[in-house]
Amino acid sequence: MEIAIIAHDAKKREMLDFIKKNRAILSSEKIHLIATGTTGSMAQEEGFNVQRMLSGPLGGDAQIAARVAEEKTQMVLFFKDPLGKHPHEPDINMLLRVCDVHNVPLATNEASAQLLLNNLK
Ligand code: PGA
Repeated sequence: MEIAIIAHDAKKREMLDFIKKNRAILSSEKIHLIATGTTGSMAQEEGFNVQRMLSGPLGGDAQIAARVAEEKTQMVLFFKDPLGKHPHEPDINMLLRVCDVHNVPLATNEASAQLLLNNLK
């Protein structure tokens, strides 16, 4: 199962804490992790095996949206910063929309992400 992780800058610390807390499931053989560029390198530094896309502002969210549309990615954990403005807002909205179009589970905050992962155990 392919799971995408994305975190805006204000949420990266929270994402790292979250993936470390869920290391057992996220590092299991069943899971293929993908991520936007910076989120992915931070996860790699913590020892996770992650396939990195471009950084979000350079098209990483759009790449992940394409994978959702192609039914390669089956879950998206996207810790969005609800307080900041982002130059790639259109890409972010596209990713959210494509998840809805394809009925792919999407969590935009930690509490929801935890509920989704709990369901995989
Ligand atoms: P990043 O992208 O992981 O490369 O920072 C996330 C984003 O801002 O969409």
